[in-house]
Amino acid sequence: MNLILLGCPGAGKGTQSKVLTQRYGLAHIATGDLFRAQIAQKTALGQKVEGYLKAGTLVPDSIVVEMVAGKLDESSSGWLLDGFPRTLEQAQQLDKYLKASAKQIDMVIYLAMDENAVVQRLTTRRSCASCGELYNTISRPPQVEGKCDKCGGELKQREDDLESTVRKRLMVYEDLTRPLIAYYRSETTLHEVDGNQPPDKVTEQLVALVDSAKVAR
Ligand code: ADP
Ligand code: ZN
Repeated sequence: MNLILLGCPGAGKGTQSKVLTQRYGLAHIATGDLFRAQIAQKTALGQKVEGYLKAGTLVPDSIVVEMVAGKLDESSSGWLLDGFPRTLEQAQQLDKYLKASAKQIDMVIYLAMDENAVVQRLTTRRSCASCGELYNTISRPPQVEGKCDKCGGELKQREDDLESTVRKRLMVYEDLTRPLIAYYRSETTLHEVDGNQPPDKVTEQLVALVDSAKVAR
């Protein structure tokens, strides 16, 4: 099973991807997470992309495509793409890659979200520096302020979750990523789930969708 999860920043792609990949045994290919890991490890790739992430602009297509292709080459099971593709060019490169390796996308899911709510969602988001667990100071606060419930690690705010950067990311999304919805609508069946609902409700609907695709296969 190969899935793509589309949606604006803050639509809940990360949260839902974690649940889905565990449930269905898929590789979670999250380009943002991969870049942040490279930056933390101070690799050459990390140094190349750091400025883009900090500014909330996109990493050049060629760099992203090469990294994702490497990950897809490695994965023997199915996968879920989270944060990729993000431009039409990336989507076309992905199609080319899939054709050449006789693979296919089984489902594209668009997690729709009211963008006015995004700024609030993202500026209150926190994550554990040790285990990556996600929190929200309003909707999902940890039991002890600033500490992870699961591992006691320190909760941090992502550098690009500052309000001005969030607004920049939303503009980039509107310009470059939103056109992908129409692209996939014409290429395959695009399924839409309302991301404004509480996380559990969203999960429930995503699971129902993926289960129906499994039956249809
Ligand atoms: P979000 O979806 O919340 O904006 P991500 O963690 O997916 O966050 O991405 C964070 C940043 O990583 C983006 O703002 C961008 O700089 C970079 N990035 C991630 N995926 C891509 C991609 N497919 N193409 C270009 N840049 C990307
Ligand atoms: Zn933790």
